[in-house]
Amino acid sequence: MSFSQLSAYEEIVGSGEIGELLALADEIKGISVTHVNSTPTGGGVVEILRSLVPLFRLVGTPCRWEVMQGTDKFFRTTKLFHNLLQGLSLKGGEKITQDMLDEYRRVNDENMKKVDLASDVVIIHDPQPAALVRARGNNKWVWRCHIDLSSADKRTWDFLYSYIGQYDAAIFSLEDFVQPSPLAHYIIPPSIDPLSEKNKELSTQQVKNVFKKLGIPQDRPMLLQVSRFDYFKDPIGVIKVYRQVKKKADCRLILAGGTAEDDPEGWQVLKQVKEEAKGDSDIYILNLPPDSFFEINALQRGADIVIQKSLKEGFGLTVTEALWKARPVIGGNAGGIVLQIKDGESGFLVNSIEEAIDKVEYLLRNPSYGREMGEAGRKVVKDKFLITRHLKDYLRLIGELCS
Ligand code: UDP
Repeated sequence: MSFSQLSAYEEIVGSGEIGELLALADEIKGISVTHVNSTPTGGGVVEILRSLVPLFRLVGTPCRWEVMQGTDKFFRTTKLFHNLLQGLSLKGGEKITQDMLDEYRRVNDENMKKVDLASDVVIIHDPQPAALVRARGNNKWVWRCHIDLSSADKRTWDFLYSYIGQYDAAIFSLEDFVQPSPLAHYIIPPSIDPLSEKNKELSTQQVKNVFKKLGIPQDRPMLLQVSRFDYFKDPIGVIKVYRQVKKKADCRLILAGGTAEDDPEGWQVLKQVKEEAKGDSDIYILNLPPDSFFEINALQRGADIVIQKSLKEGFGLTVTEALWKARPVIGGNAGGIVLQIKDGESGFLVNSIEEAIDKVEYLLRNPSYGREMGEAGRKVVKDKFLITRHLKDYLRLIGELCS
């Protein structure tokens, strides 16, 4: 990133916002920051860090991004933590054993030796690397939670809190996710980078080229959900919605996904999704490589309606991305989606397959209403969910912690 990039942000968010950003960065001059997560590719945390870390540096804050290493057993364990923390019950035969808890601790122990944690502020993302905090010295440690804790399993939370309680502060995306504890907490919603490959403006021709390359005709209304293949994103529910809509209005459906290294359940969900879609050549299931930023950008711009039918959602960057592209979005009434969509104004919020069918049909009949909602959504993102605001929140927090 270069200073000319800062002017590109300035064109979008205005000089006042950039001025504030630089002033906040100036107040913490010399303080170094390290972010740690558990995968270099896939999912919202990576999407954020890819832009946030270079932007920290651009405003003068020394910043690094470290990725912890794990084993299959470790990631199976942390995926169970993730599911339980988001309120899912264990499936038949599934349980968290002492052996798994030992593996969680052992892998974190190993990473304590390998990961460079020597900076003034260490920001740990999500439960996987939470136990690294035992390596802390006099520096400041912040736990950044990206998941929906609104109905968290108490035993899992209590286990993790034995580590999280050792941090100086925790960050949640919504007040609803905060767990009762003496730990200082901050509310910082995530954001998207309007200049990234995923979100930058594209021409109609560029969009067309991507659809052509992927072999998807653009001759009928297109419904799209972009998500990791994960039960909480309800891809099967989306296929059910499409099937009902299709009885009345011709359309196509794209489910664009991918897998993340720290999400071992993805392949299993993908298999079920393929099974559910079998026999319908108007459903396109795309298992995209992790660097398909440009393709996802084009798919989001080429879709007539974007669906994000999540049952639980930490924030839902896919919603932010689609709103930024002024798409009409139908989102599950869950977690961070609710922060972004005001029902009927900047999108629709739905609680069931039936409600989603109703809203898709409505938008197919009323495309001009969809365009208006899309424009309203873009404004919400511009005002609240761009990366410059996100960085300002981090700089402020670091200033408070280190003062
Ligand atoms: N994403 C992607 N490729 C995929 C699926 C998702 O690049 O195949 C991106 C998506 O565009 C978004 C992020 O991964 O930027 C997902 O973030 P979100 O907050 O929606 O969900 P998470 O995966 O973190 O639960």
